[in-house]
Amino acid sequence: MNQDYVTLTIGKQKSIALIAHDGKKPDLIAWCEENQDILKNHFLCGTGTTARMITDRTGLPVRGYNSGPLGGDQQIGAKIVEGKIDVVIFFSDPLTAQPHDPDVKALTRIAQVYDIPMAVNKASADFLIRSAYMDMEYDHDIINFQKNIKDRADTL
Ligand code: PGA
Repeated sequence: MNQDYVTLTIGKQKSIALIAHDGKKPDLIAWCEENQDILKNHFLCGTGTTARMITDRTGLPVRGYNSGPLGGDQQIGAKIVEGKIDVVIFFSDPLTAQPHDPDVKALTRIAQVYDIPMAVNKASADFLIRSAYMDMEYDHDIINFQKNIKDRADTL
């Protein structure tokens, strides 16, 4: 195995982050209702308002971070870095400018860096939630951050 990467395992029970921009919150709540039987088997978290509204409307327990524009997307990104979030479902609104657009980009980027499955609309969320991997462990290769730091410190 190439030492530049380490193999990490996403467990059978996933930690799923749920986020929706304001114009997409009704769609995400409806999606959570439709998929309650699957979602209830996993740990759920989300940005503050999204998490609260999903819990209020569906009864699903969703741990809330700060509201997105107040840093919630960045908190979720930090949890991805710590290996504590396995999946992101983000119903983003492509037709409305967001004050926290840089945070949204940062979250997308960090999900790519850590090879986290991320859905950005209903169809991709439908495909993701029905994937056979939702009921299985999944090994993926992540950049070996300790070696990365050592190499950079040795060479820069
Ligand atoms: P919210 O944040 O759930 O607190 O509304 C979502 C977002 O816009 O990132």
